[in-house]
Amino acid sequence: MLKDYKKQIISEIDHKSEILWEISTTLFNEPEIAFREYKACDLLTESLKSAGYFIETGIGGLDTAFRASYGDDSRPKIAILAEYDALVGLGHACGHNLIAAAAVGAGLGLASINPKLGGQVQVIGTPAEEGGGGKILLVNAGIFNNVDAAMMFHPASKNLVLRRSLASPKLKLEFFGKASHAAAAPEEGINALDALILTYNNIHAIRPTFGPKDRVAGIIINGGEAANIIPAYTSADFSIRALSAKRRDVLVKQVIACAQAGAKAVGCRLKYHLTPGYKEIIPNRILASLFKANLELLGRVVVEPDLNERMGSTDMGDLSHVVPAIHPYIAIAPENIAGHTVELREYSISNAGRSAMLDAAKALAMTTVDLLINPDSLSEAKKELASELK
Ligand SMILES: [Zn+2]
Ligand SMILES: [Zn+2]
Repeated sequence: MLKDYKKQIISEIDHKSEILWEISTTLFNEPEIAFREYKACDLLTESLKSAGYFIETGIGGLDTAFRASYGDDSRPKIAILAEYDALVGLGHACGHNLIAAAAVGAGLGLASINPKLGGQVQVIGTPAEEGGGGKILLVNAGIFNNVDAAMMFHPASKNLVLRRSLASPKLKLEFFGKASHAAAAPEEGINALDALILTYNNIHAIRPTFGPKDRVAGIIINGGEAANIIPAYTSADFSIRALSAKRRDVLVKQVIACAQAGAKAVGCRLKYHLTPGYKEIIPNRILASLFKANLELLGRVVVEPDLNERMGSTDMGDLSHVVPAIHPYIAIAPENIAGHTVELREYSISNAGRSAMLDAAKALAMTTVDLLINPDSLSEAKKELASELK
């Protein structure tokens, strides 16, 4: 039975492969940036609507978000997520065109069998992953309140189901000193640039204590007005990332202490502002093992992540703290190619990209079938998340 459903899904997605590739290339050729993905939203919802999905747009107060639902309003509800925003100036250099087409593909595959399964399938369009935190806004608006599991795929340079992501707050530091003539009366000034440079060096001094995935990176935004004036005001932005929210909070405290020490030494006033950023992903192991088995059925070899894995941050991290979730990666490029590059953009429109998108669509749909047929696995997945959050 389960096998037959999966066979049906694979053949339906193969049958629709041209349509899905067309969606992917259209998105690629007309990249839209965060919160302005109007054409993408239309294109994706049209396709799902024609397969029998009930469409709601503008959900959670976001113009370019959508929810396409299939099946009656019963539990369990499984959400498959689409991202479709591009990068400013770089287009689809993160491959979100493939993510969106895979989500639609999974939706079409599931529509061909869902009436027999019960529960509800939702394809949720989540705007503005690149910096806008669309999923966080949707979580806050209650869109995921009744969702039992959420899944998406992301293109990468390896097939990985359990790679984590880094928690990523941003810290803005401002130093307030006192201007004075740098030659005639330096003793009357309070040098806000010195406070900032001391801060920068203090951070360097504690760097040897950092763990392998602790990241503190900063730039000076304001360094002063003119060389002959003691700077009265300076500011800097720091990006602080770590493997867990706990570790990140420790780093944030340390960086603030470095800034306080710098300000104190010079006699400046310090003001700081913390923007939360994305949480780290908690990849759900129950969902991941089902997804992995399905990818292997499709002939893909899944590798284990190692600690030196390149990692970024994603708003899927925040969602994974709310519902059991996975954010697996499927290779579209060789290992040396990083995301957000012109090279990865080329792979997002390549044959390898096409085949990853189709395999992702199938594996997402097949994993949804696993979960709908065996709701016990969902209770296990929820227990796992609860224990991770303790
Ligand atoms: Zn990205
Ligand atoms: Zn991305």
